[in-house]
Amino acid sequence: MNHKRILVTSALPYANGPLHIGQIAGAYLPADIYVRYQRLKGRNVIYICGSDEHGVPITVTADHENITPQDVVDRYHAMNRSSFEKLGIAFDHYSRTSIPLHHQKTQEFFLILEKKKDLVVKESEQFYSEVSHRFLPDRYVEGTCPFCGYDKARGDQCDRCGKWLESKELIDPRSKLDGSRPVLKPTKHWYLPMGRFAKAWKNWFDQHAWKENVRNYCIGWYKEGFTDRPITRDLHWGVPVPHQEAKGKVLYVWFDAPIGYISSTMEWAQKQGDPDLWKTYWCDPETKLVHFIGKDNIVFHAILFPMILMEVGGVVLPDAIPANEYLTIEGRKISTSQNYAIWLNDYLDRFPPDALRYTLAANAPETKDTDFSWKQLQRRNNDELADILGNFINRTLTFADRYFNRKVPERRSLDKLDNQMLKQIVVTRDQMGTCLEHFEVREGTKQLMDLCRFANKYFNDQAPWETRISDPERCQTTINICLQTIRALSVLMIPILPFTSEKVQRVLKLKDPNQWEDVGEKEFLSGHQLGRPEIFFEKIEDQVIENEIKAFLGMGAEGQKDMETGSKTISLETLKQIDLRTAKVLEAKKIEGTDKLLQLKIDLGDTTRQIVAGVAESYTPDQMIGKTLVVVANLQPAQIRGIESQGMLLAVQTEKGYTLLTTEDPVGPGLQVE
Ligand SMILES: [Zn+2]
Repeated sequence: MNHKRILVTSALPYANGPLHIGQIAGAYLPADIYVRYQRLKGRNVIYICGSDEHGVPITVTADHENITPQDVVDRYHAMNRSSFEKLGIAFDHYSRTSIPLHHQKTQEFFLILEKKKDLVVKESEQFYSEVSHRFLPDRYVEGTCPFCGYDKARGDQCDRCGKWLESKELIDPRSKLDGSRPVLKPTKHWYLPMGRFAKAWKNWFDQHAWKENVRNYCIGWYKEGFTDRPITRDLHWGVPVPHQEAKGKVLYVWFDAPIGYISSTMEWAQKQGDPDLWKTYWCDPETKLVHFIGKDNIVFHAILFPMILMEVGGVVLPDAIPANEYLTIEGRKISTSQNYAIWLNDYLDRFPPDALRYTLAANAPETKDTDFSWKQLQRRNNDELADILGNFINRTLTFADRYFNRKVPERRSLDKLDNQMLKQIVVTRDQMGTCLEHFEVREGTKQLMDLCRFANKYFNDQAPWETRISDPERCQTTINICLQTIRALSVLMIPILPFTSEKVQRVLKLKDPNQWEDVGEKEFLSGHQLGRPEIFFEKIEDQVIENEIKAFLGMGAEGQKDMETGSKTISLETLKQIDLRTAKVLEAKKIEGTDKLLQLKIDLGDTTRQIVAGVAESYTPDQMIGKTLVVVANLQPAQIRGIESQGMLLAVQTEKGYTLLTTEDPVGPGLQVE
């Protein structure tokens, strides 16, 4: 279907901390590149985003700093909006979910669903603090991890062993608000019965060509079966549930945040002086809706939000969800809680925005996780932006300055190389355009740099410094074509390098509105006056990068101490300290009073050991006996439910539970893993 207009959204960033470059690589830069390209194509496109300002982590921050949740979101909303601007992320509107307009729209959605009897109410038990007189969301409960014995495990996850938990599983639970021991109390919540909508959802989903990661993820979930999902919480911060019986309850943040795309568009329309304009985008089926997100948001954008939109009715559903994979930094997963991240505001204080845009675009995590390193930033900036793109522009402008009084020389008869150069501009325009149209930012970026390589070769082959004496007409033609190439580059680079493009166009004294189709078509007339040449890319010195790496890894080292599961690089010596061995399970039994724990007796070749393992939901004791596993043999013993565990077995956690690591061929116990 040919769409009349395009509505682009990026995941609403959470206003509970500064943005980091992993988020930029996932949901913002690719969207900005796409939108800038569409604008150059003259299409009707708007780009909508805003801060996600609800949810428990924000109230945790507020309690911790002894300020209000509103103070927290005001701080990060302003900070993140300014960082986006400095990076050139050109939203048409950047709103926030704490505004009344958003609350109204979200409540309206809830009421429509309720009226259609699309929601179910269920009672469940939840921790409640009798000291603070309130229910405690998972993150407000702390206790001892039933798996590793860590005594500061959170109600939703253990930071030491990384296991997902439910707060009820914690041993010795305490309220993080007041230290009291919470009690279980019945509470009522509204659920979205997803199973009821599964068929309609599947019909819709099958009609689109989704990106592979989106398709696989959703179909996997669909096959497991959709279950009821709560859409309310006992919390004071958020969109209040519009119901008399719902005092002290708000809508779950996953329910309200995506509606923020609509309320942000509504606010945008108001600011355009045409409050109904949002409907043109959201309610007309000729709109193409594109959600840019990171892969952790697939479930909300491809399943839950479309289901809600379908039930509410009269609004468009997404056409494309170009979800990206993750960016790692210096080989390790980003962790905001451990401060293992490059913060965008921090980066922008010291380095130019286009260097980051280019590095992230050239290395975009489109189909798999990719790694960012400081050395890579330096290499991309120095060896590509400065030495290839910058060099071509600079040598041409300097030549025109020195020998042609900064005027575009006349084009005379064309030779084979001239024609090739001119043709290459048009070929790149079309190929790069196809890439950007299909969210292939990496390849599009490569095409741009390849054109610069081609242009440098053209300059070298034509050797204008020689023809200037031997064949002045040839020299004029060469410089004319080089200048036309720079003009073309100044438009082609807008999506990826908007700041550089602006500077280059200033020097070229270009004033026409930029159009993608004009590239290679609209040309300078001879005699056009140019500005003085400038340096467009400063090189980043080795020392500067060394300092960044040192400061960065110093920052991460602290995280390394309190988190054994991070994947910061380690030396071979460190690896050798971990004694991994094969072990055969001799005996296995369930530990009384637990659902997850098994007590095992294992044969380690020269000795037997007792270990406690949290795999009882995936394996029965009988299934365990006789298996050959991989265990960490030199882990410090730990007491788990009063039983000493003298090691740890290795398993992989999947959505279905655990699967044990074992050996491909049968082997004896006690063998070293290497
Ligand atoms: Zn743990």
